[in-house]
Amino acid sequence: MNELKLAVLGSRGAGKSALTVRFLTRRFIGEYASNSECIYTKHFCLDGRQMNLEIYDPCSQPRQGKLSLTDELHWADGFVIVYDISDRASFAFAKALLYRIRDSHLAACKRVVESAVFLVGNKQDLCHLREVGWDEGQKLAMDNKCQFCELSAAEHCQEVITMFTKVLRTI
Ligand code: GDP
Repeated sequence: MNELKLAVLGSRGAGKSALTVRFLTRRFIGEYASNSECIYTKHFCLDGRQMNLEIYDPCSQPRQGKLSLTDELHWADGFVIVYDISDRASFAFAKALLYRIRDSHLAACKRVVESAVFLVGNKQDLCHLREVGWDEGQKLAMDNKCQFCELSAAEHCQEVITMFTKVLRTI
């Protein structure tokens, strides 16, 4: 059986847990009591192959100054980087995460450089409160050679599933 490890990263409140739970259960759960990090596991079938998937959701993210990420970078085969389109600070944090993942110091670690990265602008349903343009997300993704989409964990079940499936297929 293939083992896949995916880390879902982004600033607190961007919607990491909402996206992960949406993918795993097809449901949107508005609030989470837990403040601790979680690793979810799921067996699933992708393109006829049985997979054992682990998703790491660090419910609390380190502050920007403490962006070491070393453990996550060595653990994960792929990354979903989440920001909230109605929160510019979350976009700046996503940018810092992407730079860290693409950091040249890590170039020696082939696994990280080749890993699949998906940048996600979440909370598209809040576009009336938008602080980050679609084109800004698209440009950041292009500059960092990763895939990009905007979606809403609250409203778009199929888009969330498609996004996770794409990143898993890339891995
Ligand atoms: P995390 O800290 O990144 O794991 O963020 P959560 O998944 O806990 O979500 C933070 C808050 O944003 C919660 O109140 C969620 O209900 C809300 N939220 C998550 N995704 C969406 C979305 O797509 N649209 C809206 N309107 N709210 C969302």
